[in-house]
Amino acid sequence: MSALGARIARLIAAQGPISIAEYMTLALHDPRDGYYATRDPLGEGGDFITAPEVSQMFGELLGLWLAQAWHDQGKPARPRLIELGPGRGTLMRDALRATKLMPDFREQLEVVLVELSPVLRRAQEAMLQDCGVPVRWVESFGAVAADRPGFVIANEFFDALPIRQYVRQGRGWFERMVTADARSALSFALAPVPLPAMAVPASREDAPEGGVYEVCAAGEALAEQIAQAIAARGGAALIVDYGYDAPGFGETLQAMRRHAFADVLGEPGENDLTAHVDFTALGDAAVRGGASVCGPVEQGDLLLDLGIYPRSDALAARNPDMRDTLTAQIVRLCNPAQMGTLFKALAIVPKTAPTPPGF
Ligand code: SAH
Repeated sequence: MSALGARIARLIAAQGPISIAEYMTLALHDPRDGYYATRDPLGEGGDFITAPEVSQMFGELLGLWLAQAWHDQGKPARPRLIELGPGRGTLMRDALRATKLMPDFREQLEVVLVELSPVLRRAQEAMLQDCGVPVRWVESFGAVAADRPGFVIANEFFDALPIRQYVRQGRGWFERMVTADARSALSFALAPVPLPAMAVPASREDAPEGGVYEVCAAGEALAEQIAQAIAARGGAALIVDYGYDAPGFGETLQAMRRHAFADVLGEPGENDLTAHVDFTALGDAAVRGGASVCGPVEQGDLLLDLGIYPRSDALAARNPDMRDTLTAQIVRLCNPAQMGTLFKALAIVPKTAPTPPGF
């Protein structure tokens, strides 16, 4: 049992079972022992690898996508580039380098990074110290004023936001909670009282016995907030993550350590915890926020459409030794058996804006 696990067990002994959302928030962000608060989890030697860590082409193409969206909206003055959960800062470094192709975008730019982890924030500071554009940090998207057009990028951010799970039992839906026994071992248990019938979405009524559905209230609220800002001031958001676009009945909460699945309740604070992103729910939330939604499209299709092959040809022309590596990177990012299909992208743009490239 980890130090944080023992503390969570004491909390449960004192106040009763906690929701999975509360458990995820403690496990990921507890300031003393939380997973992100205490480490940089990325890379071969860490727990997982993300697309910008696979290839510079990922950040470059996404950076150009944002600059193109700015261009297509008539080049609004003083654009702001906002990244949610920037990890090591690799995506932003590559995106900013690519925006040198659009100097009038880059010259007026301010970069805002939304990051809770002090460890990753230091990594981002080091990565971006010579990027040539002003960069500042905030702890939540809500702390960024909507006074400039906001161009938002989020890769593998929404999967880290806390979810709740509901389980069908008989005629009712019961929330799955986290509880602890006398020896501080954590386990799942259903809440004793079902959800009120009116709280169950109509799309969930036909679920089989034992069916599970997940709700990410934080993700939906954030998508709505981003859409409101974009509707009011212009801008665009590109949300890339693994997830599904047809709500089903399955549980996707998972723990990862050293590139392998781990026990969700074992050693909180030591494993990454994520859930697949419900793109339908995010899209609906963004529409409620007053913006247009495009997609989701599959990551592989998006990158091919944005020109990952021409980009790799250009890089290989300068560096012929790199050709095989670049080809392997494209396979990893775009092949359906790897990241090409499970990962999807959703775009949020003002209602008046043209459909962005790749959608
Ligand atoms: N986008 C990066 C990193 C993904 S890991 C990449 O693609 O490599 C998730 C990132 O989100 C980390 O930087 C983590 O610290 C940050 N994060 C997770 N939950 C957060 C929250 N609620 N608020 C702010 N940042 C968060």
